[in-house]
Amino acid sequence: MAKDILYTCSFCNKPFKLEIRFLRHRCKEMEREENFKSITGQSAWGHYKYWMKHKFKNVPRDSNTFKKSKFFSSFYKFSIFSQQAHLPDIKLYIKLMVTHKIDPVFWTKDAAYRKYLDYITYKLPPRELMKISIKTLFDEAIKANVHISDVFEILTPNEVIQLLYQRRLSPWLLLHSKKFTEFYKTKTSTEEQINIQALINPELWGKKFKQFPKDAKIVKKYINELGI
Ligand SMILES: [Zn+2]
Repeated sequence: MAKDILYTCSFCNKPFKLEIRFLRHRCKEMEREENFKSITGQSAWGHYKYWMKHKFKNVPRDSNTFKKSKFFSSFYKFSIFSQQAHLPDIKLYIKLMVTHKIDPVFWTKDAAYRKYLDYITYKLPPRELMKISIKTLFDEAIKANVHISDVFEILTPNEVIQLLYQRRLSPWLLLHSKKFTEFYKTKTSTEEQINIQALINPELWGKKFKQFPKDAKIVKKYINELGI
C-alpha cells in the first residue's frame, strides 16, 4: 500500500495517491501557515514578541511554538483589529493590556478598547496627543493631495467624528484651531455637532489647557506654523 502513496501534505502529513486530490487538498495547518506568512500574520508575530518581552522579559525566536499555540489566533485577530481601528500606538495598547491583566484573547473586546481610549483621553501627555493629531492631519492631507492648511476643506464631518473617536485627533489641537472652528460652524449639521461635542467634552479640555499652560502655548505655535 505504501508504494502507492506519491504525495504527502507537508503541513499535516496526510498521504495521497492521486495528484489531483493532493493539489486540491486544504487543511487547517496549511491555512495557519498562509495566515502566518501574510502581512497581518507577520504583524501578529511582531505584537506577540513585544508582548512576551514586555510581560515575561523573554523574546521568542522560534515562530513554530507561537504558530501552534492558542495565542496565534488571538494575535492574528488583534492584528486585524489594530488595522481597522487605526491604533495610533500599538505598543501602548499592549502595555495597557498587561497593566490591566487582560488576556490577549480579550484584547479586541469593547471593554479592552475602552481602556485604551480612556487612557489616551485622560492620561496621555499633551505633547503625545499633539504628535498623534499632527501626524493624522498630515496623513489625511497627503492622502487627498492637499496642503495641510486645507485639510479641513477635504475632511467630512463623519471622518472628523471617526478620527476623534479613534483618538487620532485630539481636542487638544482642535479646540485651538481656527480652521476647525470654521469647519464646525459651517460644515456640520446639528446632529453632527452633538456627536462632536460628546467626543470633545470642552469642559474637561478647558481645565486641561489651564493645567498645562506651557503646552497650550506650544500647540498654538504649531497651529500657526501649519496654518490650521
Ligand atoms: Zn494538510
